[in-house]
Amino acid sequence: MEIYLDNSATTAISAAARAKMLEAADNYGNPSSLHDMGMRAEKLISEARRSILTALGAKGSGEIVFTSCGTEASSLAIFGSAFAKERRDANLILTTNSEHPSVENAMRRLEKEGFEVVRISTRGGVLDLEQISSLLNKKIFMASFMMVNNETGALYNVAEAFAMIKAKYPSAITHCDAVQGFLKTRFTPARIHADLVTISGHKLHAPKGVGALYISNEMIKAKKIVPFLLGGGQENGWRSGTENVIGIAAFGAAVADIYPRLDATLSHMLGLRSYAIEKLQELDVTLNIPNRTFAPHILNITLPNIKSETMLHFLSRDGIYVSSGSACSSHSHSPSSSLIAFGLDAHKADCSLRISFSEYNQKSDVDALSEALAKGIETLVRIKR
Ligand code: PLP
Repeated sequence: MEIYLDNSATTAISAAARAKMLEAADNYGNPSSLHDMGMRAEKLISEARRSILTALGAKGSGEIVFTSCGTEASSLAIFGSAFAKERRDANLILTTNSEHPSVENAMRRLEKEGFEVVRISTRGGVLDLEQISSLLNKKIFMASFMMVNNETGALYNVAEAFAMIKAKYPSAITHCDAVQGFLKTRFTPARIHADLVTISGHKLHAPKGVGALYISNEMIKAKKIVPFLLGGGQENGWRSGTENVIGIAAFGAAVADIYPRLDATLSHMLGLRSYAIEKLQELDVTLNIPNRTFAPHILNITLPNIKSETMLHFLSRDGIYVSSGSACSSHSHSPSSSLIAFGLDAHKADCSLRISFSEYNQKSDVDALSEALAKGIETLVRIKR
């Protein structure tokens, strides 16, 4: 039996998404073709766009641009805004010190291009509003703050942060990487004062290979963003390249499946998280709980002097799958910058595991995890002695 508790890395494809993938596979026309088959493919894309705009509470306030993943959506947001900038009357960009590499590495590139980037503290899982306030004496070009940290599950107070920035600099561009926040907490771009919002399909039961960027009408009207993937002008010119109709249609279907049941799915995940906290408190582990608010699907723990990777393989042999840091950061051997930003030292960060739920998990999965963890701690500590 396999127990999948790595839903922040990716999720199982839902029945609704799978059925839509098959429908889209049969409708294999090019959405740019003018014949009936092309129009049917185009219809699948517009249906998906509508379902995502509805779930974002953003109908009429902006556009959805489909991309190949969340990473590409954030690149479009960040580089597209930077390329659009004609006059450098503002050069300062604010971001957090715990962004996903898709944002952090884009920021490093912009630093090389001459932008000043300041990374705001997220110690304890809280975005430091005082630090932001202290930086408001200098004109801000852009702020890019993630909604939910992918390692700790901390839900950052982006609405307050963006509101402060917009109050002083209404033309500042605000981007939110909501890859771990979309359908894990209720928000709308307007309510969080975001001009640009990144989301990704494979985190919510759609297949891999599809993401989207929400762009507000205001950004488009004021020409504050330009496309950087140029070609045939698909996606209203925002992202050229023949669309991934199967992925896009499935993304829309996955969202349409969850959104009407959102309260129930959120409370199910929250229940699992609370139950896991209760069970894991009985073990020799430290729970890395954010100080303020958190998403319902992520729980991070630190093991007693056992490297997370060692425990991950121990659990994996029992068919229990968790993460030793985000799937993306597992490519690098440096300790997770999110956990360091949270306040852990490098050793503790190296001994931390991320457990992440979806609506498909049950309490029995948590029971199995806690049993296997107890066994793992005993075995691995004994081996060390
Ligand atoms: N942003 C966050 C917070 C993430 O957790 C991830 C993926 O783990 C991404 C962005 C990247 O999304 P994608 O895998 O669709 O490129």
